[in-house]
Amino acid sequence: MRYALVTGGSRGIGRAVCVALAKDGYPVIINYLSNHQAAEETKALVEAAGGKAELLPFDVSDREKTDAALDAWQDAHPDDYIAVLVNNAGIRNDNAMIFMDDDAWHNVLHTNLDSFFYVTRRVLKLMLTKRWGRIVNMASLSGLKGLAGQANYSAAKGGMIAATKALAQEVAQRKVTVNAVAPGFIETDMTAELPKDELVKLVPMRRFGTPEEVADAVAFLASDKASYITGNVISINGGLYT
Ligand code: NAP
Repeated sequence: MRYALVTGGSRGIGRAVCVALAKDGYPVIINYLSNHQAAEETKALVEAAGGKAELLPFDVSDREKTDAALDAWQDAHPDDYIAVLVNNAGIRNDNAMIFMDDDAWHNVLHTNLDSFFYVTRRVLKLMLTKRWGRIVNMASLSGLKGLAGQANYSAAKGGMIAATKALAQEVAQRKVTVNAVAPGFIETDMTAELPKDELVKLVPMRRFGTPEEVADAVAFLASDKASYITGNVISINGGLYT
């Protein structure tokens, strides 16, 4: 059986991705850090959509915990593999660089970029052996354009975009595609504190996007319809930057 793993699937964009992939027939593994109640809510939404889901909490920024959780999952599912991986878990910790401390830099890099390496490396082996896989990385407008106050986050997302392009070339012959999506402002907990009335003036569509609008693009990239698309970045930003 082909499973889909969504990191950071408990809330926001990850939750919408879980539901979209379940609607496409994938049993979904919902990863998250600590918000068990939110993860249970995502699971209930997947089941309400007619899908199957299981919870797999672990810290994607921790290599050992990532390996241990994914090894345990594989041991419990000897006949299954993770065919779709959505590297979505992420945090931001904004500050002008002159005031940015070491923790703000390293934590954002660990959670947004090192996680891509730890999770993907572990899941990739069976995708290559089975000769079919889909990897979709949750980048950001910030990683394409760079945003003031986000040197750490822009570096992480920009690094993720470059790694997407490199890995896509490594694995293309085995029918494993690797793409990224780059959302602009999306309505989630991550953007709840931002001055929305001011920011929407920058967006040609004059609104924030919904998690579902991002999830639909992820589901397309994960589908057979996107079989000849790899190493690409799709912007989902209401015209803010293309
Ligand atoms: P969110 O609502 O804050 O949700 C973040 C998710 O990531 C939660 O499920 C959280 O789990 C999980 N997470 C955080 N740290 C983790 C860790 N160390 N290990 C495992 N899971 C972890 O964020 P969002 O807005 O949906 O963002 C999702 C992704 O889209 C992020 O990569 C973000 O950078 C990117 N993005 C967002 C926007 C936007 O406007 N919202 C724009 C561009 C890109 P818990 O529930 O357990 O905390």
